Amino acid sequence: MAEAVRTVVVRSEQLPRRTFRIFVELEGMYRNVVEQLVLYAVNNNVTKFTRLKAEKYREVRSLYSQLPSHYAYTACQDAAERAHSFLRMKKMGRARKPYPEVRSVSIWLDDHLWRAEGLTSISLATHKGRLKVSVELNKHYLRYVNRGWRLASEARVKLDHKERKLTLYLTFKKEVSEYRPKSYITVDVNEDAEAVLIDGLVYLFETDLSRVTLGYYYRRKSVHERYDRVYGPGSRPARRMFKRLSNKERTLKKEIRWKLATLIVREAARRQAAIVLERLGKEPAKNMMERIKDPQLRYRIFQAAFKGMQRAIEEKAREYGVPVIYVDPRNTSKVCPIHGAEIVYGKDRHGTCSRGGETWHRDVAACYNLLLRALGGDGGHAPSRLRALVTVDGGPVPLGPTAAHEPAPIARGAWARWKSLGATSDRKLMRVSA
Ligand SMILES: [Zn+2]
Repeated sequence: MAEAVRTVVVRSEQLPRRTFRIFVELEGMYRNVVEQLVLYAVNNNVTKFTRLKAEKYREVRSLYSQLPSHYAYTACQDAAERAHSFLRMKKMGRARKPYPEVRSVSIWLDDHLWRAEGLTSISLATHKGRLKVSVELNKHYLRYVNRGWRLASEARVKLDHKERKLTLYLTFKKEVSEYRPKSYITVDVNEDAEAVLIDGLVYLFETDLSRVTLGYYYRRKSVHERYDRVYGPGSRPARRMFKRLSNKERTLKKEIRWKLATLIVREAARRQAAIVLERLGKEPAKNMMERIKDPQLRYRIFQAAFKGMQRAIEEKAREYGVPVIYVDPRNTSKVCPIHGAEIVYGKDRHGTCSRGGETWHRDVAACYNLLLRALGGDGGHAPSRLRALVTVDGGPVPLGPTAAHEPAPIARGAWARWKSLGATSDRKLMRVSA
């Protein structure tokens, strides 16, 4: 059984001033608790919720006796997570400050602190008793309700001070059992594209994820220089602009990854296939993105294009019960999947097999090697196994000189509108590559 988890955002209606003030007080107290707990956790190297709770719960309870007791509990969870990620960043040398700042707060809730009352209203426990709040229904929320997802007890609430509304982050869960795979779809992740091998055809979906990351990096840099000249360093307008750019970047990347993951996972589910991914390390491999010298930027691109893309596929796969298999990514594009010999590359992404002399596109070779590894082959017995698996169109080159050999790059603007690789996709493919 795999469990799929999704967060759905729901807004409350505008609250009366008096009611909203109670939530403002609650937020203030919760923030104080979390700040104290984070400070303690970081000083004492506590990253586990259970330990933080064991050591601090009583103290928090007596200091904030007016708060419903479970806030002390959820604040411990919140603080433990903040401390954990801060200490990890610090270890990697990526923490900018000696202590984590508790800047934006969303109040963590558990089953004692909130409950849904029907579809349009929820009740929340506060220091002034339980308060009932009406929520605005949205399509997203109803879709999960209608499709058999279960509303989980954990939730978060954030205050919108400007609009006097609450923003609720609800968690939906769904248990799906994985099927036994009948075939494989392999995915080779790149900086700006995903090569996907489906039914003997390699599709090259352009994602532009590293280009997007780089673009925003340079935009932020120029904003930095321009604003610092006018307003002085670290000004408010600059910070606001930064935030806007970061939000736009995040939303765009998320949309790209989510759409492509959905497309790939749906194709896998339709074929009852498993998805084969490369096992990625924590840091970008040396030969990935050699041209990018700035280590922070390399890390960002790696997270966005490699890790982020895989995570989106994993999450989507859990929802559809699609099994995901990880294989060793070493040398996947360097070795000929048929002869097991080295492929010698020229300047572009095309290379020649040093034994058979046939031409390979780097991403096509990688996709087939991932498939071989998933099948348990090491390349040594490749010819027969691979021939049996892929459709050969009779050309002099083992895989056939045409379709399987040269992936047609599919621009983001094209595939982003696709619902599947169905009957219409071939036509579109041809049009795009023509
Ligand atoms: Zn070869």
